[in-house]
Amino acid sequence: MGSIDHQGTSGPDQRQTSQPPHRLLVLDDDAATGATICRIAEFSGVQALYVADAESFFRQLDDWQPDTLALDLIMPGKDGVEVMAELGLRGCAANIIITSGVGSRVLDAASRTASEKGLNIIGVLAKPFAAASLRELLELSTKASNRINNGGSTISPEMNDSDLQHAVEHHQIRYALQPKFNCPTGTLAGFEVLARWTHPDKGMIPPDLFIARAEALGLIDELTRQVSEQALQWLSQLDAGELQTNTASYLKSQTTLSINLSALSLGNADLFDWMAQRCRAHRIEPERIIFEITETSAMKDPAQSLETLTRLRMQGFRLSIDDFGTGYSSMLQLVRLPFSEIKVDKTFVINAATSAESRAVIRSVIELGHSLGLTATAEGVEDMTTLDFLRSTHCNQVQGFLISRPLAPDQVLPWLSKREQKREQTRVAAVKATMLLDSGPEARFDRITRLARRLFNIPVVLIVLIDDHRQYFKSSTGVKVTELPRDQAFCDWTLAGDELQVVPDTTRDERFRDLPSVLGGPRFRFYAGRPVCLPDGTKVGTLCMMESQVRNLSEDQQRLFCRLADMVEGELAVSSDQVTDSLSGLPDRTAFRKQMEVARELTCHMGCRSALITVTLNNLGDINRRQGREEGNRMIRQLSLIIRQLEQQADLVGRYRGNEFGLMLIDNSPQQVDTFCEALASTVLAWNQQQPDDNRGLSCHIGLAWLDPDTGTDIEIAIERARQQVISIPGNP
Ligand code: C2E
Ligand code: CA
Ligand code: CA
Repeated sequence: MGSIDHQGTSGPDQRQTSQPPHRLLVLDDDAATGATICRIAEFSGVQALYVADAESFFRQLDDWQPDTLALDLIMPGKDGVEVMAELGLRGCAANIIITSGVGSRVLDAASRTASEKGLNIIGVLAKPFAAASLRELLELSTKASNRINNGGSTISPEMNDSDLQHAVEHHQIRYALQPKFNCPTGTLAGFEVLARWTHPDKGMIPPDLFIARAEALGLIDELTRQVSEQALQWLSQLDAGELQTNTASYLKSQTTLSINLSALSLGNADLFDWMAQRCRAHRIEPERIIFEITETSAMKDPAQSLETLTRLRMQGFRLSIDDFGTGYSSMLQLVRLPFSEIKVDKTFVINAATSAESRAVIRSVIELGHSLGLTATAEGVEDMTTLDFLRSTHCNQVQGFLISRPLAPDQVLPWLSKREQKREQTRVAAVKATMLLDSGPEARFDRITRLARRLFNIPVVLIVLIDDHRQYFKSSTGVKVTELPRDQAFCDWTLAGDELQVVPDTTRDERFRDLPSVLGGPRFRFYAGRPVCLPDGTKVGTLCMMESQVRNLSEDQQRLFCRLADMVEGELAVSSDQVTDSLSGLPDRTAFRKQMEVARELTCHMGCRSALITVTLNNLGDINRRQGREEGNRMIRQLSLIIRQLEQQADLVGRYRGNEFGLMLIDNSPQQVDTFCEALASTVLAWNQQQPDDNRGLSCHIGLAWLDPDTGTDIEIAIERARQQVISIPGNP
């Protein structure tokens, strides 16, 4: 896949001159280890030299000018940590490999301290080590220094300041776009804009170098303007015709652009007025622009930052705190500044797969972000293990080489269309694998659409599964058809993003006004829909509702609708996750508890009462003992069949324990609930009476508890309360 980064091979002057051999200097108090390292290195074509103490080490460093250093952390006399401190003071540019037999936490900590001192740590090698690991690190180091020698940090600033000035004056600074994704769905969220400079002689120069110089030379605001203008133009003029229409529309109207701001720009109000003006000119809402400010720069002058950042927020821009975890900001400062996103520093993320400490930092930054209501983003995701870990922490967005390197602007669409095609194939396969397509109505889904219809007082509610060419209605109320072509309905648009889509008036929305169901037939004016996912984040369809009148949803109603979509996801998890109890075919204890929790939240939110009903098979132990487990299972199955006959009237049903089922009726009157319990009791009694004489029948307790919106949400307590208030149904004598 085409990508541009520091390793860019497109520099006009790609010097192919042969490099002098790479030099490795080894400091280790153990001669045998030293010799082994040298032997392995020389075998890989690296010149190696071994020294046993700090004094000879620094002498060789000056005389021999090694490219890579291998440092033992623990030594008598001056140890590796002190050696690194001195290397830091000397501004040493060599690559460093830390070697030691100490635990990985210490190695991690040492490597981080060293990076903070500005040293290039290539990696750590825990002793005893495998030759392959050392070779890998040496290879990394060789690559890194070739990169620098081909036009990197060895340029002298004096020589290049005028080049940089020239480049800015002549608009030669370009940009790359690195995509950012929602976790866990994998939906594209937006792009980070990264400045790129190709020096006419030296090729690609990393922004870490020229941004700092641009700041020093007072060129940074101009540079920011140029980069931003190019990116805004790219977004506004994007011709996404090669993508599916819904993806193209999503890309053009919803994706965000993240722009890096220098600390020095924070005082410059003109820059932000200019930004606002440029957004208007390009017809891009400020909500789609995210300014990234590093933690350290935001904290330099908190008062000034507060003022600038507040103004930016008021203009509608979003703000992100970048590289979080490396600075020392206190919670208090963070809370005061109006950020909308927190970005975990990539050094932690890059190390997450191997370092427990990094994982702990990531987890706590994400938690902190969430507790402040911020989107939590992790950048520097390089491997699947890390991505899985981030999913488990409920990180909201991810960015990193694993998914995509920064891309040249003209590479974005080809990259995206290839990716979306693949994603769609996987998605459709997952939808088919649920076995829910064409499976007919099921009470557990119908309950949710009925509930939504009642709560929103709206005629049409659908649970839609979308395969490659159509929308299949797994559950529907208020419409006669069970499917529609995919391109003829609203939900395909909802599926492109991850959020709830509310269309107050379809006739005023160019995406929808020509749809058959808007022009004719039901003449739908209002639509709201939210994607629903499998537990792994695959979007299989939507929960949506429609009516022929214009309407809007309050924030509360939007949240409520999303809870209902969560309930659908709970049911989808039941289908996919094998959380169904195999005897009864009902959700098992875990699934039922989860559904109860969502339902409780929902009812508390709506301020309505619900009834919790328990049905306990009293004589199950007895039957198991006397007639065997087979017979016990048969009785459980029988009781569940009776419950399933009535489940249409309940909002939730599940097998809560071995001999106990739970049901929940939301917003029903006491009379309705009584009728329900009586129906249940009489069905059980009727069945008992039909049994032959030797069958003891089902001896049950039906328990009932009322849950008020303000009584707690603990399910265990509620169930316990229900068990105390029972109707008994005797088995056969
Ligand atoms: P940053 O803001 O933290 O940007 C992210 C950097 O992480 C980018 O480096 C990106 O290429 C790199 N990155 C992303 N994913 C991965 C990954 O998985 N692994 C690794 N190892 N790296 C990853 P880049 O483009 O070299 O930019 C470096 C820094 O230069 C940026 O760090 C930012 O501080 C600064 N910068 C870049 N463009 C601009 C700009 O337009 N304005 C300002 N003020 N600063 C900029
Ligand atoms: Ca950034
Ligand atoms: Ca960053």
